[in-house]
Amino acid sequence: MGNSVIIIGGGISGMTAAGILVQQGLDVTLLEKENETGGHLARWDRLFPDRRKASEVLDFVKAGLNQVKIVTGVTVTGISKHDYDFTITTRIQHPASSIHSQFSASALLLATGFDLFEARKKEEYGYGIYNNVITSADLEDQFKSGKGILTREGKIPGRIGLVHCVGSRDEKVGNLYCSKVCCVTGVKQAIELKEMYPASEVFNFYMDLRMFDRHFEELYYEAQQKWGVSFIRGRLSECAENPDGSIILKTEDTLTGKPLKMTVDLLILLTGFVPAIGTSAICGMLGLKSGTDGFVNSADSHTSNNSSGVPGVFLAGALKGPISIGEAIADARAAAVQLAGYIKSTTAYND
Ligand code: SF4
Repeated sequence: MGNSVIIIGGGISGMTAAGILVQQGLDVTLLEKENETGGHLARWDRLFPDRRKASEVLDFVKAGLNQVKIVTGVTVTGISKHDYDFTITTRIQHPASSIHSQFSASALLLATGFDLFEARKKEEYGYGIYNNVITSADLEDQFKSGKGILTREGKIPGRIGLVHCVGSRDEKVGNLYCSKVCCVTGVKQAIELKEMYPASEVFNFYMDLRMFDRHFEELYYEAQQKWGVSFIRGRLSECAENPDGSIILKTEDTLTGKPLKMTVDLLILLTGFVPAIGTSAICGMLGLKSGTDGFVNSADSHTSNNSSGVPGVFLAGALKGPISIGEAIADARAAAVQLAGYIKSTTAYND
């Protein structure tokens, strides 16, 4: 038990850290609440900024997991600590019954990730009401299916709108923070739609564009100059559905100051990050604090961003806030190195 580690969360951060920790000779068990590992990345087709296949990154990370014990479909129901050891109780859901199990570990890594904002909460955009309003994640499902992007009526969309900041930077839904990666996702998806249907018109409705990382700005220029994507500065106020299934949207172009009414065949909502359901319960078991945005606070965001403040408990990835795939991998590696150092520094390691 002296060198055993439990990782809670089997997305990109949890899997990356697991791969590093088994390389360090530690005994790693990864607990995932879904029936599959991979998290949101498993749903994504291609990644920004170079539009490489998400599956390549997933395969790379999964290749390091041979020695990791992976338990899926499991919910953490309790965590207790005695000296250097943790006991984690879990429930595995089966159709007919639930099975309770216990795990022991000398250190914990929390990598519970994020959820996507529930688009139905922005009722004025009509997700779940109008057939041709979908989310950016729904669009990735359709890209991945390889069947093309069609309206619910089976037509190639001639006009497509992408709406930025859905559930982020929005006082009405209580999320003041920026989700950081949805601007570049919107630009990437606009280009992919134009690649698929060059004759279609694609419009991005944005508040301001946050192209924060290397090559993102170039992607934005490519969208405009090579593909003719239009960018309209303004937040959508409401949507309605025409009898033919197309969507009428209303906004104000805040650069010209003029109201704008437009019809599109398909409307894509770029939903932001929210704290994952279940993270707050786990934080409660360990006495960890969250910020006003609901994401978990580290011991020190500059100098100890992978420490939770509780000895033996470490943090990796998007449970601390919006983050890109590349950042999640780097953060998970940093967390794994710190955790391995902690184990080596405890006397339990030498048992
Ligand atoms: S990254 Fe862009 S779309 Fe996402 S919340 Fe920030 S400003 Fe809005």
